[in-house]
Amino acid sequence: MVVRESGDRRLGLSPAPYELAGALDGSLTRDGLGVAEATRRLKDEVLAQCLRVDHPAFLAFVPSAPDPQSIFADQQVSAAAVYAGDWKEAAGALYAEQQVITLLAERAGFPSTATGTFVSGGSAGSLSALVTARHRWRTADPARAHDRAVVLASHDVHSSVAAACNVMDVELLLIPTDKNGCLTGELLAEFVDTLPPATRSRVMAVVASVGTTNAGAVDDLVAIGSIAQAHDWWCHVDGAYGLACLISDELRHLARGIERADSFIVDPHKWLFAPYDACALVYREPGYAKAAHGQRAGYLAALSRHADNDAFVDPGNLAFQLSRRARGLPLWFGLASHGTAFYAAQVEHGVMLARWTAAQIDAAEHLELLIEPVLSVVLFRRVSWDAAQYERWSTELFDRGIGFVVPTVADGQPALRMCFVNPETTLAHVGAILDTLL
Ligand SMILES: *Cc1c(COP(=O)(O)O)cnc(C)c1O
Repeated sequence: MVVRESGDRRLGLSPAPYELAGALDGSLTRDGLGVAEATRRLKDEVLAQCLRVDHPAFLAFVPSAPDPQSIFADQQVSAAAVYAGDWKEAAGALYAEQQVITLLAERAGFPSTATGTFVSGGSAGSLSALVTARHRWRTADPARAHDRAVVLASHDVHSSVAAACNVMDVELLLIPTDKNGCLTGELLAEFVDTLPPATRSRVMAVVASVGTTNAGAVDDLVAIGSIAQAHDWWCHVDGAYGLACLISDELRHLARGIERADSFIVDPHKWLFAPYDACALVYREPGYAKAAHGQRAGYLAALSRHADNDAFVDPGNLAFQLSRRARGLPLWFGLASHGTAFYAAQVEHGVMLARWTAAQIDAAEHLELLIEPVLSVVLFRRVSWDAAQYERWSTELFDRGIGFVVPTVADGQPALRMCFVNPETTLAHVGAILDTLL
């Protein structure tokens, strides 16, 4: 059954609910529609009515561009009916997933104690890391058992960190960035100096970003890591998008200081060419995570007897999860098939596109580049446009099938951004979009 037709990559569709109702109502019946009709509906009505995030002119948000090898492996994972929650049931899958975690950990300069797991996305990854951080903070001093912990991060930190803090009932304090959208050591230190002692003593973690979603900015991990260490705070790095740079020898220096973090995340479904959904969550040292996570019950006892053989920690002991798909295997298979150099070249392609686009914008009088791109996000303005003009332009671009680029906000003002992750995006795609801004 072919549900993927790579020729058919349209933008410009957003059917109204009543159109889908006409096509899909009555799908779920007592006796079934039969495979042929169900297949037709799946292909022509369900999947054809979804945007393809791997359209080469899809430059909104952080797109995704799954590699055919990864997609193949993803299908194998489903077909093999693997329960990847523990070693007894999925030793092979966990071993292979750990190879990917180890590759990322080594490239980050983590010690050989590093371990990790794959969760559904960056949101689940950061939540799990912060739960670990709080557990460590509370166990370090029993007097903190009922204190509300504090997390520090920059204003540009991803919304999922605020969501995680909300779930945990943790206070999140946001720190203004510099003009490049970065949290620097100086800004962090100044902010900490202004905190009342009673608040400062409740800080349990700082979250730094490699590749903020809006600007692709990279925080100063070296300085932030050493401040965190001096205060005995957990340092978590959100690299859901940007830590893909670890795979490239040319670009990994951008994440300098990552070796000081206690945990980091990177989403293979963003810039590492795996299908949804996967986030690699990596810990410098598994002990704290093991203490914080893990479910215990009589019906699980048979599993925990096998858990934690020396080298492998069961995934449920590292994150908020129990049953799980072996969602790291698509990336493992892609890396095993193509090699890391292929991945590096694809990530470098995105950075090249961003630099080229920034140069075009810089040279155009009607456009204003807001931040020199470091990774593959370009943030810019069309001189003298207001929010309504951006909206109209974006809608028309989409409807005409030229591209998907949506307005954002930078420094409180409307702006545009493009994010390049797709190796099939060409200069011609970007040029065609820029031409419409004249
Ligand atoms: C996308 C993103 C997240 C959230 O990841 P999900 O996989 O969507 O949950 C977190 N941080 C950054 C920087 C992101 O770009």
